[in-house]
Amino acid sequence: MALFAPTNPNGFDAAAESALQALAGPAAIAVENVLLHAEATRASTIDQMTGLWNYRYLLTSLNREVERAHRFDRSLSVLMLDLDHFKGVNDAHGHPRGDAVLREFAARVQAEVREVDTLARYGGEEFAVVLPETTAAGAENLAGRICTAIRARPFGGDEGDVPIAVTVSIGGAVYPEHGGTSRELIQAADRALYAAKAGGRDRWSMAVGAERAADR
Ligand code: GH3
Ligand code: MG
Ligand code: MG
Repeated sequence: MALFAPTNPNGFDAAAESALQALAGPAAIAVENVLLHAEATRASTIDQMTGLWNYRYLLTSLNREVERAHRFDRSLSVLMLDLDHFKGVNDAHGHPRGDAVLREFAARVQAEVREVDTLARYGGEEFAVVLPETTAAGAENLAGRICTAIRARPFGGDEGDVPIAVTVSIGGAVYPEHGGTSRELIQAADRALYAAKAGGRDRWSMAVGAERAADR
């Protein structure tokens, strides 16, 4: 804390100084508490391994965007991503190398999405992207670009380690055609992801029909 008294050539007297010191102590503690709180909030919404948003933040973000899309009649899409045969990567190269692949995967996908999109680690080797203001055509375009970016070159290999070829399968769903709530959208995208896997992997697929509570 820096204090100036430009109108007083003698500066502060002892009484003022001790009063200021009494104020500065609690102020410092308050500032420190705010910083600690901000750090705790950040840590509770970030996935430590990849640095992406975590599942908790994904749901918060998706709930907010569904609400906004509904209220202002805007478009909204969701993509679910799952690495192909990832168990094989761990089995062949070990778990730490698998972790490195997940981190590189996160960085490559992050480079494809916009600032307004929420890319999160859904769990394990599954990821999700919330795309505000995005129609089916926009979601399909991004899904195609992500598949290409992952397939384009093998992972790692820069430090003498064996390069690993990786592919990803993606499922997409659009509000409100495929679902009217966060839960329904994720389920619809998950089903589409399953179709992409069944169709041979290394591809994307969009939801077909609506995922409605009444359908379940
Ligand atoms: P599919 O193409 O059907 O998705 O096959 P898969 O092998 O990717 O699917 P499965 O769900 O059987 O296996 C997922 C694997 O991902 C198994 C698990 O050990 C691995 N995995 C999940 N989380 C992590 C992680 O944080 N680090 C590493 N290294 N591996 C993980
Ligand atoms: Mg999986
Ligand atoms: Mg997988």
